[in-house]
Amino acid sequence: MKLTKEKFTIKQFNEKYIDDNACLHQVFLSRYSHLENCPKCNSKFSYYKVTDRKCYTCAYCGHQLHPLAGTIFHKSSTSLKNWFYAIFLFSTSKNGVSAKELERQLGVTYKCAYRIAKQIRKLFDENVSILTNIVEIDETYVGGKEANKHKDKKTPNNQGRSLKTKSAVLGAVERQGNIIVKVVNHTQSSIVKPFVRNNICITAEVKTDEYRAYNSLKTLGYKHDKVDHGKGEYVKGNTHTNNLEGFWSQLKRSINGTYHSVSPKYLQTYVNEFAYRYNRRNDVTPLFKSMIAKVLMQL
Ligand SMILES: [Zn+2]
Repeated sequence: MKLTKEKFTIKQFNEKYIDDNACLHQVFLSRYSHLENCPKCNSKFSYYKVTDRKCYTCAYCGHQLHPLAGTIFHKSSTSLKNWFYAIFLFSTSKNGVSAKELERQLGVTYKCAYRIAKQIRKLFDENVSILTNIVEIDETYVGGKEANKHKDKKTPNNQGRSLKTKSAVLGAVERQGNIIVKVVNHTQSSIVKPFVRNNICITAEVKTDEYRAYNSLKTLGYKHDKVDHGKGEYVKGNTHTNNLEGFWSQLKRSINGTYHSVSPKYLQTYVNEFAYRYNRRNDVTPLFKSMIAKVLMQL
């Protein structure tokens, strides 16, 4: 049975997070609502918000709790509602959110918007557990000139040029499961082998195209089938890399359309953003909630 996704619309967002205090209260509840007693005086938990300050105080002993301490929101000159709204925008966008877009939507400077976007993107970094069952592996090249694409791929010894024009990205996706994507220096087997060993269970069935770096997978002990894209073969029984191809095209569309270009140095954080969304495509809980939870998990 497929569970229905819980909706979280902009209307609901505005009703729930009417101002900074409402956002602060949400953080307060998330962090402390499990407490039955005051951590200081042990009286029954009874805290109220201190007027004009971002803290709560115990009704009995006066001990203070600072819900924002240690979070990305702490000591920020950006209002909490703006932070929440920025996270909401990231959570509802399929193509990512540029700093320019945040600048417009939040009415803050570009520098400030850039900093917020950078912090939010860190939330997308996660450890995905090892992939099993049927796993597609594929590589792609992001950025640079389209004309150099094949040159980069077919002449792996020519790495200097490859790095200058495009960044290599390796991906593995479990059918109906999670994706793991890494920006790499090149896609020769010395990189492919440890990537596969570290991320894919040895009992998995691995599907790739004919790229020769994948020839070593059988010797590693994997059951390996491939399609020959060079010969126009894209699907052979259940052997194909269509899920990854779909992910690559979404990634490239977004990078070209929303971000225009991404420097190789930051590419992994952008790639993480799309992997994070992909890995939650069937979540019932709205992405916004999982992102706010992630902010608090980092404490
Ligand atoms: Zn107390």
